[in-house]
Amino acid sequence: MGQSSTSEAAILDRPARYLKGVGPRRADALARLGVATLGDLLANFPRGWQDRSSPMDLGAPTEGTSAVVRGRVLRAEHFQSASGMAIFKARLKTATGEIDAVWFKHSSRRYDVFAPLKRDVVAGREIWAIGRCETGLLGPSQLQVEEHYLSDDPLARLHVGRIVPLYSLTAGVSQRMLRELTAAALELAESRLRDILPPGLLSERGLPSYPKAVRSIHFPDSQAELEAARGRLAYEELLILELAWMLKRRQTKGSAKGYGYEITRRLLTPFRAQLGFDLTGAQKRVINEIFDDLRRPQPMTRLLQGDVGSGKTVVALSALLLAVENGGQGAFMAPTEILADQHLATLRRFLAGLPVRSALLTSRLKTKERSAVLARIQRGEIDIVVGTHALLESDVRFPRLRLAVIDEQHRFGVRQRASLRRKSAVLDLLVMTATPIPRTLALALYGDLDVSTLDEMPPGKTAIRTAHAGEADALAALTLQVAAGHQAYVVYPIIEESSRLDLRSAKKEFERLRLGPLAGLKVALIHGAMPGPQKARIMNEFAAGAWQVLVATPVIEVGIDVPNATVMIVQNADRFGMASLHQLRGRIGRGRLPSTCFLVAAPKTPQARQRLATLAASNDGFRIGEEDLKLRGPGDFMGTEQHGELGLKIANMFKDAAALADARADAERALQRDPRLLAPEHAGLRGRLLALYHKNWGWVDLA
Ligand code: ADP
Ligand code: MG
Repeated sequence: MGQSSTSEAAILDRPARYLKGVGPRRADALARLGVATLGDLLANFPRGWQDRSSPMDLGAPTEGTSAVVRGRVLRAEHFQSASGMAIFKARLKTATGEIDAVWFKHSSRRYDVFAPLKRDVVAGREIWAIGRCETGLLGPSQLQVEEHYLSDDPLARLHVGRIVPLYSLTAGVSQRMLRELTAAALELAESRLRDILPPGLLSERGLPSYPKAVRSIHFPDSQAELEAARGRLAYEELLILELAWMLKRRQTKGSAKGYGYEITRRLLTPFRAQLGFDLTGAQKRVINEIFDDLRRPQPMTRLLQGDVGSGKTVVALSALLLAVENGGQGAFMAPTEILADQHLATLRRFLAGLPVRSALLTSRLKTKERSAVLARIQRGEIDIVVGTHALLESDVRFPRLRLAVIDEQHRFGVRQRASLRRKSAVLDLLVMTATPIPRTLALALYGDLDVSTLDEMPPGKTAIRTAHAGEADALAALTLQVAAGHQAYVVYPIIEESSRLDLRSAKKEFERLRLGPLAGLKVALIHGAMPGPQKARIMNEFAAGAWQVLVATPVIEVGIDVPNATVMIVQNADRFGMASLHQLRGRIGRGRLPSTCFLVAAPKTPQARQRLATLAASNDGFRIGEEDLKLRGPGDFMGTEQHGELGLKIANMFKDAAALADARADAERALQRDPRLLAPEHAGLRGRLLALYHKNWGWVDLA
């Protein structure tokens, strides 16, 4: 028994170099993909698949898309192009017609780049060629070959005539190499793969075994088999995630703060009195929900969802004040320096005259300033610290940290939340997002959170009008608004011109606008690559009215509040995600003045057109968030890093909504029966949880 498990581990743990054809160079290249061992190779799931079961019909050409052709070589030739490229061309006769297959290479003085082609692609040979099918200069229709295989090559069966895996690549690693190495690793080690799911669950849910699923995810024999394998692996990831959330939640709910809150209203009453407006019903309800949480003996972990402009800051300040009323300290964390600055300014404005000591902590502070602030925090002389990621550093020590508020939660990962929690043995946590998502999804993504929603906008706001417009019209409208004393943003997707991207850039356009269409106006530039102090200065000057037009990158996306800004022009708008555009346009319409957002774009796909139309038609962040999530998938939506943090390689919360529901139910049942997952059938789950969540962030406690 002991011996067999050692050799099991041994094969999966063998370095990739154990495989034929992997020398030190290839091993290094594989390591860049995170593949060190045979086990890693098997766990390196494809990022997609291509159905190459049957060759394409040349009678029905598809330009620019990936094509699979099988044909006999009629003739082959090679030559140099005028620009020095080496070109190899073969005429292929297929079952449905003829086509030119073309290979391009950079010529080399040292060796013949086409030696293998000259050997293999000769008249009479049958080959498979995969590549892009286009109408080229060389003829009416040609195939630009990316991969080719000789029909009689025994290894060809891994690459053509079937559904093939497509992997993420890096320099020195090709699809062909990964497929062949993965197939070899499967032969050697497939039988050593072990299921972590209890057998009962597998049969109950009708899922393929793990070894079977791993084989099928790489080399499926049919679409149905691929779907079953994908579904099974997704379910497993989601089950582990749900178990982790539930254990985390149990742990949070099970711990006691050891201090209580009392609502003295010493600070809250004067704060409310000097706000200058009444809270909305939704704000009152949500503040009550938060206060109820704070007064409980267990720590709070609450997500506050509220559309752009729904007034989350006031809610956050109310919660922070309650902590301060009770002698605690609060931290208010924002994703950018600009936003942190702005939150501090808002806080000081709303709390003017109240005995609340606040400070700013960002990475922009000079060493001396920083240590002064840190010392005051540590001595308990600061009540509320507003800052960025800089708050998370280990030398930031709070003697009485009670409440942390994280603004724009989607910008932060689970890991960051965890490290904030570590700042204080017990801590109430409020995370806020302006990118609301459906509740079921929120639970899956932030499974340890309770959710509150601001579903009402403050009164007196004129809805933002959004129009898909030409640049000239947009600039004309902008000029009129500026002449009327208002301010405007012009937003570009990138800072600097790039030869790869056909996009307008903030820097170049700033010069053009300033000297051309907007000559005579006070125009400033702000972008993410500027030093922090410069960004802050420009933002403050804009807020104070010193600039009429701000040319910007999406650095202004989050939270900036300048009520006098009534126009926004977004250039290359089709290049932004919907949630981003919604956030961006939330920078206007912040006062009582009617505001317009112009989306300037030439959308190339029907989906892109659809996205812009949805934005023009709706101001509802919930609807837009949902559409965005559908169009982009949660990996993109959350930032791939965060998605990776959750251990999700295969699962897609949308596609796998059903698997998610199953996983939730099964996780709940397993923990009910076996709260510490000590039963032998749970050993696999337990091990995975400890490896994935305990080791990384001390998240899951199964002791
Ligand atoms: P967000 O939810 O996007 O963070 P903010 O907290 O920045 O929204 O609030 C947007 C604007 O609305 C701010 O200028 C804020 O002062 C104002 N505001 C917040 N609550 C109310 C209210 N109840 N009545 C009127 N204005 C409000
Ligand atoms: Mg905000």
